[in-house]
Parts: sequence; structure tokens; C-alpha cells
Amino acid sequence: MKMKFQAIVVLILLSYSSIAQDYRWQQKAEYTMNVSLDDKTHRLTGDQKIVYYNNSGDTLTKVYYHLFFNAFQPGSMMDIRIQNIADPDKRIGMRISKLNENEIGYQKINSLKQDGKAVKTTVNGTILEVELAKPIMPRSKTTLEMSFEAQVPIQIRRSGRDNKEGISYSMTQWYPKLAEYDFQGWHAYQYVAREFHGVWGDFDVTISIDSSFTVAGTGVLQNAEKIGHGYGKAGSKPVRKDKKLNWHFVGKNIIDFAWVADPDFTHDMIKVQGGPDVHFFYQKNEKTMNTWKSLQPIIDETFKFMNAHYGKYPYETYSVIQGGDGGMEYPMCTLILGEGKLEGLAGTAIHEVAHSWFQAILASNEALYAWMDEGFADFAEDEVTAHLTNTDNDHAGSYNTYFNMISRALLEVPNQHSDHFVTERGYKAGSYTAGAVFLHQLRYIIGEKNFSKGMMRYYNTWKFRHPEPNDFIRVMEKTSNMQLHWYLRYWINSDKKIDYEIKEVVDGGQKTEVSLHRIGDIPMPIDLVVTFRDGTKELLYIPLNEMMGTKPSEDPSLKMQTLPDWAWVSPAYKATINKPLSEIATIEIDPTKRMADVNRKNNLWDGSQDESDDGN
Ligand SMILES: [Zn+2]
Repeated sequence: MKMKFQAIVVLILLSYSSIAQDYRWQQKAEYTMNVSLDDKTHRLTGDQKIVYYNNSGDTLTKVYYHLFFNAFQPGSMMDIRIQNIADPDKRIGMRISKLNENEIGYQKINSLKQDGKAVKTTVNGTILEVELAKPIMPRSKTTLEMSFEAQVPIQIRRSGRDNKEGISYSMTQWYPKLAEYDFQGWHAYQYVAREFHGVWGDFDVTISIDSSFTVAGTGVLQNAEKIGHGYGKAGSKPVRKDKKLNWHFVGKNIIDFAWVADPDFTHDMIKVQGGPDVHFFYQKNEKTMNTWKSLQPIIDETFKFMNAHYGKYPYETYSVIQGGDGGMEYPMCTLILGEGKLEGLAGTAIHEVAHSWFQAILASNEALYAWMDEGFADFAEDEVTAHLTNTDNDHAGSYNTYFNMISRALLEVPNQHSDHFVTERGYKAGSYTAGAVFLHQLRYIIGEKNFSKGMMRYYNTWKFRHPEPNDFIRVMEKTSNMQLHWYLRYWINSDKKIDYEIKEVVDGGQKTEVSLHRIGDIPMPIDLVVTFRDGTKELLYIPLNEMMGTKPSEDPSLKMQTLPDWAWVSPAYKATINKPLSEIATIEIDPTKRMADVNRKNNLWDGSQDESDDGN
């Protein structure tokens, strides 16, 4: 007995010390929820139990919950914001301000106890503040039990009932959700426009609803044979005696739980080789019957590509569900509008599937670093699309949007809280566009091979955690053996721009001197490609001194010569080509166009142009 006790003490001390050494501890929440939805009153009642693990070194005297449905009430912060932003989301417009009592959303806490003792709660908009009955000590757990009720709002943004395509219930942001606490503190943001962050944990959810409804969502259905609705073995038809069915879902190691219910769903399923099972839920009609069938092999190939390039999807199932108001990502599922043309439907679905990696598994704080989930998902969407259509993965769409936003002076610093961008367009450019360009441009800086290896290493290092911008760049530094924090600072933490020019090309007899000039504020390494009159090419690679390293050759067929570093303080650089001017056809900065140079007109020196100029 004594020995055993000592062994246990040693084990406990070991596990505590390993947590203490890791300053990036993360909290954990185990949810058990039993809820019942009344489809006549659109009200939900239920119980929620959370076993909450405080893995931090801090003593917590409060916790916070999100009550997202409260945003759908006249005068809410979402309502006020939409009436004051220059380019409001048309899906919302003035709709919240006009909701009547039966149409608003709310979440009400009827009782809340911590380890059996009642606690004091205060509702502030979409945030519930809880003064705990007793503090949660470092590295200990507590149990929070509540009963709650909610009214499902008319579908206005993401969640709600009766969306414009007639889907009955889009149940996202539907339950009182614990706010995340991490090394930065509490992330108890009001629900103003977007982006969600959650505590890693497990969800055990039982949903009671009229048996006519098919339910789709996060997690794996535990009682498929009893439920039917396309879940059980093919052809099986359970006999239903009860008016209501209890749908039991379990999702492990996820940050959120969403579901959809509709009586008219068609339910298809495909098995992706190497996983997962992908379920499709849609209302079959002339607008969907062909597109949703055509979508299935596309999603099959998307999972295969994503598994091969960004790490293996770790869950058993994924569901593509018609619902919501566009496309929105959740763990193990997405809600997308379903009646559009195949191209748009597939583009949205691929983007949302990509979010399974960039947000659902690599769960960056979407509110603070939207560029890490939206930008990375956009990037992966482009890569998948290029693979599916056998075209170049040049990300031209992202670059064009970026240049367009700059020309209209709408670009804002990407690294800011999503709800605090001045305009909606600025948010989109600072997250989707800047994030996608960030990755493709990083590929230029560190080279294709390092980039591919780095993306896989990022997954393996940070899956099931909350990676920060610096965590991502550290992985890329370790993979490439280059210093890269300067790139993060310039591209993500500023709105500075890139512009390089070939200023002058001078005949030096047997040699040719090229004068380069940095006009923009962002320093970059330079790929200078010389094309000779005999058709051969050579890459003169100019590393940036801040990188403390060089990228390997990306193209074995292109001769590469590494020139001395360019110090970032110098606006000018002289490169020497060991061939006479007469043998040179063109010289070009970054012909791959991966560097987001805002003025490409001054990137090319054309020998034939130059000669004709001299003749005049
Ligand atoms: Zn997205």
C-alpha cells in the first residue's frame, strides 16, 4: 500500500511539473447536454453539465459564458454595429431592429450551480458573467450544472429558424458556451459580427425533437440503428412508436458543437478512402438534385488532398449540411446555402472543409487572428481547386483582391480583432486576402519544399491546440532554418507595402550591372531571373540579410546563383551578371509573381525595348 501511494505521488508531481513547464497550458471542458426542441414554439429547454478543468497556474474566481442568441434582439450590439458601419452585411441590414417578441432570440439561465452550490450570475448582452461559489484552484476541476431555455430566432445571421431556403433549424451558437481562458486571459467577447473561439473538450449531446425531423451536425450519432433517417444500415427502417426521437451525438476533442434539423432532408453518405465518412443533407428539388450529387466526388477528392498536404483528418465523420446563410465552419460539419450553381456550391464547400484544418483542428483564435483561419482556408481552397481543375495554383484571385484593396485605400492592418475593422471590406481583405497571400508569399521566401514540409509540421505540432501567429512562424523558421519574424511583423502587423524596381541596367563590357531599388517599406528577398538571347535562363537569388539563411533551389531546370545578402536598411542594391549586355534579352524581378509587389511595371527590363529606345 505504501509503495503504491508513493508511486501515485510521484506520478502526480511529474504530470504537474510537465504542465507547469508548458506555459501554453490549455483549459478543458467536458459538456453533457440534454435538450428538447418544441417545433411549435421554437423554444429549446435543457440541462447542461460542464466538468471544467483549470489547467492554468491561476486561481479563477469567475467564469464567463457566451449567450449568442441574445444578439438577435433590437438594440443589441450586433444591431447597433450594423446600423453604424459603412458597408453593413446585407443579410442583416435593419432586420434585427424589427424583430418582434416571437421572432427574437434569447438564452436564459434558469439555474446554475458549481459543485452543487448556487452561483451569482449577471447577463451583459451576449455574455454571462459568473461569480463562482468557490475559486477554481490551479490545476483543478469543477462541475458547472445549469438548466437553460432558449428561443430560436428567425434566421438572420448563421443561426436561427426558417432560413431563406426553407431549412427549419440552423442550430449554431445555440447553447450557453464557456468562454476560453488562456495565457492572454479571458476571451469573453460580445457577439457583434463574427468569429468564435472555444475551450477544447468533449461533447455528449442528446437532442429530443419531433420524429419527423432529420438531425445533422457535429459528432458521431451513437444510436443510429434506433434513429434511422439514413444513419442506420442501408435499408433499415426502425419502427417509431414515440412522437419524439432522442438523438445522441458524441464529439471528442473539439471546440464547439452545431446541429441542423429539417423534416425534408435527403441524406447521402460517401466513404472517403483513408477517412472520414462524409454525410450530405439537403432538400432535394430541381435546384439541388444535380448539384448535390456532383458535389460528392469533389468533397471526396478534397479530403484526400487535404489529408495528403495538411495532415490526416482525425475524426470519423464530417457533414455537409444545407442551412444557415452562406457557408460557416464548425467542428466535423459545415452549414452552407444549397441552391446555387455547382461552381459556387463546390467553392464554398471546399473552403468550409479546409476550415476543418484551419480553425477546427488548428484552433487559432478566430477573433484575434482571422487571417490564420480565413486566409489559410482560402489558400487551401485555391490549392484544392487548382488540383481538381488541373490549373496553376497561382492564387491570382487573392492577389488581385489585395491590389484592388490597396488601390482603393481600404486595406487595414490584418492583426486586429475581427469586429474592430473599420469596414466589412477591410475585414475581408485583412483576413481572407492577406492571409492567403501571406502563405503563397511565404512559399516564395522559404521555397516550395520547405513550405510543404512546414505546413505538415504545423499540423503535427499544433493540432488540437490554439496556435498563435508566432507559433506558426516558429514552425516555418525551424523547417526552413531561416529567421522569419520580420515577415510576420511587416505583413500581418502593419499595412506597409512591397515595391521593388529595376532602376538601371549598365553595360560593363564583359559584365552587366543591374541597379535594383526598394521603393516600398517591406524588405524582401529577391528572385532576379535573367533570360539570355540564346533562350537560357539564370536565377540570381538575393537573400535578405534579416533571414540569416537562404532558400534551396525550387526548380532544378533553372540555374541558380546566390548573391550577397541585401541589408534591409539599404534602399539600393547592385547585382552583377557575368555576361555582356548584348547577350541579355530580359531581366525580371520575381517572374513567379508570388511577391505581392504593388507596382509590377518596374519589375521587368526588356532588352529589345531598351535598344529601340536608344535608336530614337
Ligand atoms: Zn471561412
